[in-house]
Parts: sequence; structure tokens; C-alpha cells
Amino acid sequence: MANTKRKVVIIGGGFGGLFTALDLTGDATVTLVSDSDHFTFRPLLYEYLSGEVEAWHIAPDYKELIDDKINFVRGAVEAVDFENQTVKVSTRENSFDYDALVLAVGGTTNYWNVAGAEENALPFREIADADKIRNQMVRALDAVSPTLAPQDVREKLTFAVVGGGASGVELTTKMSDLLTDAFKRRGLKGEPRVLIFEMSDQLVPGMGEEMRAYVEKTLLEAHIDVHLQTKVLEVKPHGIVFEHKGKQTEIETVTTVWAAGVKVNPLIEKLDLPKDKSGLILVNQTMQVKTRENVFALGDIAKVEEVAPILTGTAQLANQESALAADNIRAFLNGKDLKTKSFEELGEALSLGTHNAAVLVGGNVVGGALARDARFALYTSRLPTWHHRLKVGASWFFEGTTPRPLQPLGYS
Ligand SMILES: Cc1cc2nc3c(=O)[nH]c(=O)nc-3n(C[C@H](O)[C@H](O)[C@H](O)COP(=O)(O)OP(=O)(O)OC[C@H]3O[C@@H](n4cnc5c(N)ncnc54)[C@H](O)[C@@H]3O)c2cc1C
Repeated sequence: MANTKRKVVIIGGGFGGLFTALDLTGDATVTLVSDSDHFTFRPLLYEYLSGEVEAWHIAPDYKELIDDKINFVRGAVEAVDFENQTVKVSTRENSFDYDALVLAVGGTTNYWNVAGAEENALPFREIADADKIRNQMVRALDAVSPTLAPQDVREKLTFAVVGGGASGVELTTKMSDLLTDAFKRRGLKGEPRVLIFEMSDQLVPGMGEEMRAYVEKTLLEAHIDVHLQTKVLEVKPHGIVFEHKGKQTEIETVTTVWAAGVKVNPLIEKLDLPKDKSGLILVNQTMQVKTRENVFALGDIAKVEEVAPILTGTAQLANQESALAADNIRAFLNGKDLKTKSFEELGEALSLGTHNAAVLVGGNVVGGALARDARFALYTSRLPTWHHRLKVGASWFFEGTTPRPLQPLGYS
């Protein structure tokens, strides 16, 4: 293709889209479209919930990350016209035209049509979601008197998390540590109750045995109620109904958080592109959509058949794909050959409470405070841009990453 216009439009400013845009800076006229004004480093959302990190650390505004070489457009993409090579954004009258297009809009919470789940459970994907969960924990604690009997306290401070994958496990351990700390500070009797529900017969399915054993031990020590082989049937505003071995039970809860699945962004459902049965766009190993050589798709909405299942739906995959996509877009615009790459599993790191984590190093699981520090160091290196990494790294080093207690509302 003759390289006349070199216009690249990137839809979605997450691990796939933002990193592709940063990589392409200067090599093309790049327009980055996102429906949010900030990037979100989701692997540290648990630490934002607990106050170990601040919003600016993990959710910097795009204007902090990109310079005027990238044209940033805030708005949701509503439609793509592949024939005329244009993109329609909700906030703009005129469409944007492109020579190469990158689709990187990520996923959204999948409630699997469970009754009441979408209406009553909280998702956990955004800064605002973490704020809501934290507020609900504080309000529930504020409503409990230190004179209340332990069994009544436990009932009033019951929180449920649906999904026993990495996200559910990281969330429950963080919530449990925060609540347990608040009990001590407020002089409450007994202990909080945090429940985790998982349909399969094991936690963190897909992770190795050693990691699972460490996770199970941590949850046991944190007194988290683990419900395996349990199907959640309904989520109510203040309750959850579930079934285990044919027996149905209902428990009252302060709130239920849904961490049990991701589905593709609704925009992708509207696009006439080749997809697999889960709605993921089928792409070649060059990151090009199978039927359209000038359209690239990556991250949580794309399926490269050759990628190991363990990497599917991860930031580490989206990140690696963004580097390949940027290289191949440059090649495509310059009429050169595109390349392929095999994506590597870069290891596993789990947050397991406010003072603990587990990291897989050379096939062995290292846990405890050291692993927590290693996880922070690892994630500092994966934040976008050198400038942001340095600012955040310095803040964590000099100001620390101590959790922020669940203080009563109005307390300063
Ligand atoms: C709580 C949590 C913790 C996680 N922890 C880890 C972890 O520890 N390790 C790991 O590897 N992975 C982790 N993941 C998964 C990881 O975050 C995703 O795999 C990764 O973000 C996918 O990148 P992406 O670019 O496809 O999508 P995203 O990063 O989700 O980015 C999509 C972007 O598109 C924007 N967008 C959406 N729709 C539109 C539209 N119509 N128009 C314009 N913009 C739009 C969104 O606002 C967003 O900016 C975690 C996920 C969650 C939810």
C-alpha cells in the first residue's frame, strides 16, 4: 500500500491500545479514542481498594501520558465503516478516517444472566467500582456498635465475592484484611465474614498446584468462607442465593461483588468481523483481523489461535500484542513484510491481602512480604511511560504503600 496518509486510529486506551499508541508515536498520525479520560492499570486495583496506592499511581490521565504527537479524543466509538475506513465517535459530529485501525476496547463484566446479578452485584473493573466497595464496607462498619454480640456483628458484616479465579481471590483477601483491621481499630466483637463462591472444584483454576496450595492456605488463615462446586442462582440487593450439591441456601449480605467472568465489549458485537463462539475477533499471528489487512485487533477482544489459553484475557498478553501490532502497522504503512511472534508467559503474581502476595519465580512460589515487594517492583516496571514509572516508583519508595484503614465516614 502506498504510504500517503499514514493515519492510524486506535480505539480503546487500555493495555492494548495505549501501549500501541505510545509505541507508534512519531511514525504515523495517531488518534487514540477512549471513552474514559484515564488509563487503568487493573492488576493494582486491589491495592487502590485498600489504599496501598492512589488513583494517580494506577489511573493516570491520558494527558499525563501522551504528548501532542498523539491526538487524544474522548468519546465512545459507536460505529466503524470498514468499507469507507471511518470511525464514528459519540462526542464528534465528523467521523475519523484511517489507513490502519486498531480495535482494543477490552472486555466488560459477564454476569452470565444470573438473576439480579447485573442489577445488584458490583463489578470490579474501574476506580469508581473500588470506591463503591470501599464506601459500602465503611457504611456497614459504621452501622455496627461495639456492644453488639459477635454472631450479630458477623451477620451485619457479611460480604460475598462471586468467582474463585485470581480476581475473586485477590479481592476477598484484600477485603478480609481491611475489615479485620477495622474490627481491631473500632473495638468490634468477633470477626467479619467474607464469602467466595466458585462453580468448579478448585480455586484459581488454571494456575499450578503450588500456587493453589498457597492460595488455599492464605484463605484458610484469613477465615474466608470458601464455597466450591457452588452455583450462584440469584443476587439480591442484600443477599445471595446459591446451590451446592442440590441444596439451595440464601445468605444476607452487605454487598456482592461479581468477579466471575468477562465478555467482549458490546461495540465488538456490532462489528461485522470473523469471530469465535465467545465473540472474540479472529486475528492472524500478525494481529491483523483475518478478513481485513488494515484492521488490527488485540487484548481481551482478540483471539490468536496459537496463544496459550493461560495467557488469554491478560494484561501481559495485551501488552506483548501491542508491541507486535505497532511494528506491523509501521510495516503495513510502509509496504514491508509483517512479522509474527510467539507470546510468552511472563509469570504469575497474586495479591493476597494487605501484607502478602505470591509470586511464581523459576517454577517455585514465593510468598509473604518479599513477594509483595517483588510484585510492586514488577508492576512499577510495567506502568506506561518512563516518566510515570519514575514518579510512581519514587512515591512508593519514599512515601510507602501502607494500607489506608476503613475509617468512619467523616473522620479525617
Ligand atoms: C480487577 C482486574 C485485575 C486484573 N489483574 C490482572 C493481572 O494481575 N494480570 C494480568 O495480566 N491481567 C489482569 N487483568 C486483566 C487485564 O486487565 C486485561 O486483560 C487487560 O486490561 C486487557 O487489555 P485491553 O487493552 O484489551 O483492554 P482494557 O485494558 O480493558 O482497555 C480497554 C479500553 O477501551 C476503552 N473503551 C471501551 N469501549 C470503548 C468504546 N466504545 N469507545 C472508546 N473506548 C472504549 C476502555 O475505557 C478502556 O480504556 C485484570 C483485570 C481486572 C478487571
